[in-house]
Amino acid sequence: MSRRICVAVGVCLVIGSLFGCRNSDSDVESGNDGKGGKLDIVCTTGMVADLVRQVVGERAEVRAIMKINIDPHLFTPTTSDVRALGKADIVFYSGLFLEGRMVDAFEKIKESGKPIFAVAAGVDKKSLRSPSEFEGHPDPHIWMDVQLWSCCLDEVVARMVEVDSDHADEFAKNAEAYAKELDSLHEYAKTTIASIPKDRRVMVTAHDAFGYYSLAYGIAVRSAQGITTESEPGVNDINKLVDFLVAEKIPAIFVESSVSADNIKALIEGAGSKGHKVNVGGELFSDAMGAAGTYRGTYLGMIDHNTTVIALALGGTDVSAGGKDGKLADAEATVKK
Ligand SMILES: [Zn+2]
Repeated sequence: MSRRICVAVGVCLVIGSLFGCRNSDSDVESGNDGKGGKLDIVCTTGMVADLVRQVVGERAEVRAIMKINIDPHLFTPTTSDVRALGKADIVFYSGLFLEGRMVDAFEKIKESGKPIFAVAAGVDKKSLRSPSEFEGHPDPHIWMDVQLWSCCLDEVVARMVEVDSDHADEFAKNAEAYAKELDSLHEYAKTTIASIPKDRRVMVTAHDAFGYYSLAYGIAVRSAQGITTESEPGVNDINKLVDFLVAEKIPAIFVESSVSADNIKALIEGAGSKGHKVNVGGELFSDAMGAAGTYRGTYLGMIDHNTTVIALALGGTDVSAGGKDGKLADAEATVKK
C-alpha cells in the first residue's frame, strides 16, 4: 500500500478544523434523527455503498440507489431515488462524471447544504488516466485498481469524521482493517493475472471500463465501446476489433453484467466468419457488482470474480476455480470453454 498516491486528506482535516477547510458543523453530527441514532447514508453505485459500509459499520444505514446490472453512465434517478437522496443525512457518489446524468441532482443537493462527497476526490490527479478519446476527462472507473480504491477508502474516513467526529477512532479502525483486505486482494490480482501466458494477456470487453485494471495488473485491454456507454461503436470499430481478434488468435472475450452483449456477439460472429473461433470467457462485473447479499455483491467478491474468470479463460496457471479464498465455488462454470 505504500506506493499508492492518495490525496493528503489528513492534512485537510487538521487545517480544516482551524480554517474551515470544509464545514464540520453538520446537523447530522448528533445522529439524533429518529432513526435509532443511525445516520441515513445514500450512495449511487453498489461499489460506493460497499466502501462506505466498511467505514461506518453499525453507525449508519447505507443504501445504493443503483441496483444489480445498472449502468451508471446511463442512470437517471427516479422520483423515489430523488426522494431518498433528499431525505438522506449524507450522500456519497463515485465522481469523475461516472454518474453523468446525475450532475444536476448533485448540484441541487450541494445547494441545499447537505453533506455530499465524491469518493474519487481521494485519488491523486496524477494517478488518473485521461485517454485521448475522452477529450481531457479522466477515466471514472477507479475501482478497477484496488490501490486507487483504497485511496477512496481514506476519503470516506475523512468525510465521515467531518460529519460525525465522535466516532472518528471507530471509522479509522474499521478502515484500517479493510485496507488490509484490499492489500491482499491487490496482491491476488497481480499474481493471478501474471500467471496468464504473456502472449494471451489481452482482454477484450464490451466497454472501456478496465483501463486502470490493465495498468495495475499488467494485462492489455481492448473494447468495443469507449469509456462511457453513451456512444455506440461504429461498424469500423467493430471490424478493427474483429481483425485484431483474428490476427492475435485471442481465445476468449468477455461480456459485462451492466452492458448489452450485442457488440460482443457481433465480434464473435465477425471473427467466426473469418475462420477464428472466439469463446465468451465469462461475465465480468464492470460498473455494477453482483446480487446484494452474495459474495459477488461485494467489492472484494467483484474483483476476485473478475480476476479469477479472466485468468481461467485465458489460461492462467496460478488460479483455482474457487478464486482468492475459495468463495467462488462456481467460477469455472461461468467460463464457457
Ligand atoms: Zn463504465
